[in-house]
Amino acid sequence: MTLRVRFAVWVSLLLLAVLGAFGSFVYLDVANWLSASVDDSLRLSATQVIETIDIEDGRIDLSDNPVTQDSSLADELRARGLTIQILETDGSSIKSFGPYRDLTVDPSTLAAALAGRSTLVTRTDPSGGGAIRVLTQAITNDGHAIGVVQISESLRNVEDSLRGLLTALLLGSPILVLAAGVGGYLLAGRALAPIDHITQTAHRISAEDLSGRLDLPESHDEVGRLAATFDEMLARLDGAFRRERQFTTDAAQELRTPLTAMQAILSVTAQRQRTAAEYETALADLAEETAQLSALTEDLLRLARAEHPPVTVEPIDLSTLLSDVADSMRPLAQTKYLALTCTVQSGLSMSGDTDSLIRLCLNLIDNGIKYTAQGGIGVSASEVGNDLQIVVADTGRGISPEQLPHVFERFYRADEARTAPGTGLGLVISWEIVKAHGGSISAESTPGVGSKFTVNLPRKL
Ligand code: ADP
Repeated sequence: MTLRVRFAVWVSLLLLAVLGAFGSFVYLDVANWLSASVDDSLRLSATQVIETIDIEDGRIDLSDNPVTQDSSLADELRARGLTIQILETDGSSIKSFGPYRDLTVDPSTLAAALAGRSTLVTRTDPSGGGAIRVLTQAITNDGHAIGVVQISESLRNVEDSLRGLLTALLLGSPILVLAAGVGGYLLAGRALAPIDHITQTAHRISAEDLSGRLDLPESHDEVGRLAATFDEMLARLDGAFRRERQFTTDAAQELRTPLTAMQAILSVTAQRQRTAAEYETALADLAEETAQLSALTEDLLRLARAEHPPVTVEPIDLSTLLSDVADSMRPLAQTKYLALTCTVQSGLSMSGDTDSLIRLCLNLIDNGIKYTAQGGIGVSASEVGNDLQIVVADTGRGISPEQLPHVFERFYRADEARTAPGTGLGLVISWEIVKAHGGSISAESTPGVGSKFTVNLPRKL
């Protein structure tokens, strides 16, 4: 069942329930009100009739009574279809008129009336005319019952009115429910039209072409927000796919460079017989290109690993880790006559992935050594607020303001840096490691003076 049909069915069922409850309430209320007004009119008429009755020597005297003669009161009572019976205390009739004038008096109601309790009962017309309402009330003289007035009225009008109301409710409700269902179906159609559009667009958009967008007119309702979120998600996916494709192209190009160089060396060397010294040079060149190739593949693997960090997180003593990395890099620094100092606050502990953090420090110190001709590299670490801060500063050639924003991009290498070995992936790997640890990394540099890389890492992942 479609959402649209389901909505229409729900609206109809809801309206049916509301109409059922409301209709029952109205029906019962009207029924109560109508029977209460019949009872009130019977009571009023009984009082009117009793007031007209003369009493002569303790007996009922109807000789001059307007109810039994031609009078406006008699006309009015007759016009209302009332039956009036004036009875002796034994129930025998003195005077009666109206459609139910032969109605017998129920002994228990007679007894109750004579005891001073007027009664109202519903009886069935003995001649088969339906239900009638009967009021029995005593006529008293000095507190003694000397007769009884019985007034009856057919309940046909009441029943007709109630039947009419019930018919209207039973006939009107299905029409209203149907109209609500159709209305709900049409409204749901209008409200869900954008969803159809979203479905069709989503069908059209494939992984190969993520450029399609819903581009629904801006609205802040639920569907508008859904469409906007969907477009944002597409934009993110599109961006990720593009970056991924770009990365594959860049990686292939980077790998091609040393391979082309190797092919060239091989074909040039193979052109003719070479001396041993020439072969040695060719082999040395080949070894250099192979080293570049393996550095590249190593870094590509490291990057893949850094993008999907291991789930295991262990406690790390960052102070010891940094000192150990600095110690391991010192011989390399010394080959360039550079000083490598390490000023690390002791007891800096955090949780994270040891191998990744070693790689991060190695990359930063290695860059410092690579791009510094004289002076040295300073490694320091301290506690800053809730974070641990690592700073690697050098007195190297520095990075120009135009190059600085690009140093964390994949395969980016400043032109001057191309003489040094490298892949252009070291800082990207570092950035991914820092990101996986929930931290941040930034670079500052003054060309000709030196560079400073600052890493902030939260103690807990
Ligand atoms: P690479 O393998 O080229 O060192 P990185 O990603 O580590 O790749 O660095 C990217 C570029 O940023 C380098 O090629 C270099 O131009 C610049 N760079 C990084 N660190 C430094 C530094 N300490 N001093 C000067 N330039 C640097």
